[in-house]
Amino acid sequence: MDVNHKLRAIPSVDRLLSIAVADRELTQYPRELVTDCLRQAAANVREKCRQGQEPDVSAETMISLAKELVKQINTPSLRRVINATGVVLHTNLGRAPLSKRAINGVTEVMAGYSTLEYNTETGERGSRYSHVAAQLSRLTGAEAAIVVNNNAAAVLLVLSVLAKDREVIVSRGELVEIGGSFRIPDVLRQSGATLIEVGTTNKTHLADYERAIGPNTAAILKVHTSNYRIIGFTSQPAGAEIAALAHKYQLPVIEDLGSGTLLPLTVGGETEPAVTERLALGFDVVTFSGDKLMGAGQAGIIAGKEQYIALMKKHPLLRAIRIDKLSLAALEGTLMEYSAGNPVRDIPVLAMLFAAEEELKARAGRLQALVIKDGRLSIAAEIIEVSSPAGGGALPAAALRGYGVAICVSGISAGSLESLLRQRQVPIIARVQADRLVFDVRCLSDNDLEEIAAALLAIGGRQV
Ligand SMILES: *Cc1c(COP(=O)(O)O)cnc(C)c1O
Repeated sequence: MDVNHKLRAIPSVDRLLSIAVADRELTQYPRELVTDCLRQAAANVREKCRQGQEPDVSAETMISLAKELVKQINTPSLRRVINATGVVLHTNLGRAPLSKRAINGVTEVMAGYSTLEYNTETGERGSRYSHVAAQLSRLTGAEAAIVVNNNAAAVLLVLSVLAKDREVIVSRGELVEIGGSFRIPDVLRQSGATLIEVGTTNKTHLADYERAIGPNTAAILKVHTSNYRIIGFTSQPAGAEIAALAHKYQLPVIEDLGSGTLLPLTVGGETEPAVTERLALGFDVVTFSGDKLMGAGQAGIIAGKEQYIALMKKHPLLRAIRIDKLSLAALEGTLMEYSAGNPVRDIPVLAMLFAAEEELKARAGRLQALVIKDGRLSIAAEIIEVSSPAGGGALPAAALRGYGVAICVSGISAGSLESLLRQRQVPIIARVQADRLVFDVRCLSDNDLEEIAAALLAIGGRQV
């Protein structure tokens, strides 16, 4: 059929609208929205005709295309997913789920007014930075602390304040790139500081740092290699040695810890340095993320010597990178979990990282039982051992041993099953491994298990 003929066959928007007014589903939506979507549907079909395709142009099809568009507009793009990857700090899936106290804090603050910048004692303007400073000092041993939008912003602020137009010494083994274009050399340049690289990729000695110190040196910067490890013939001076060297020359020593943990933390055979320890070694300023191992929402925490933090409070950049009230409430709620004394139980990130293998095995058993109940033989489900990374720029070499369920649905490839589950209203994210779909249960709640089972049964639960 020729293109013009096909184009003429597309029903007019008026005609479609006259049908749509009788459609029970579409009448729930405002008329303008329905009209827009009908127009869009017609435009999409027209485009297909012009490209030489032969789309169905019946009024019925056009109406159902418009329904899809209306639904899309009424479905949030940012929405919950079920994380069956086993990666606890999955940056693409939003990093840390919040604890009860954090959720309560956010809920209370988001619905109304708050003490964000109000001092109830004086009735005057207060500071948003005051809410968590004392808790952070208590939990890290720092003299002072300030929080900003995220850790990338924290590093930028610290360097802008302490090193603009001057030199910062960094080991070549620590010129880190974090996903999403955060690169230490670029951040340094952006702050107005000049990077002085010392040592080699695998080895940097104290003398390398010392030789690089000159009249224009502003600071020594250490960067935690939070997403990679250099192994083999390697060495870096101990933190305390670097701090002592910097102080001998009256220089501050800064550390970007990336994923700062408030607890000494060893999982999957790997240890992450605790903020308290680093400060105790003599580091003047450390920065870290709120939503990595700490388990709060997005935030960048700067902790250290009062004299430096005071300078940051006065810097104009601070306003541009300030933390918002919801993240602040999440941070305070999370800090309260630490103070309440049972963070490994109460902070989801820590609970998931430290989940006992027996508990994970039992959870995998529950998922398997839900999936194969009622003799639905079209689904095969086997409990398997799995190993997953912690993710999110933390513990890069750690392999967390756990359990998962490997699923096969007869008549559907693992790839198609993965794609079907991923495109649901509540997407279920799992990974394909050797022609099976693997659900690592580390990050799954009992409710998630039920939802996964229901989705699998809806797709492949034929009674055979
Ligand atoms: C994650 C990370 C950052 C960036 O932190 P965000 O909170 O994601 O901005 C910076 N430096 C290091 C070493 C990191 O691991």
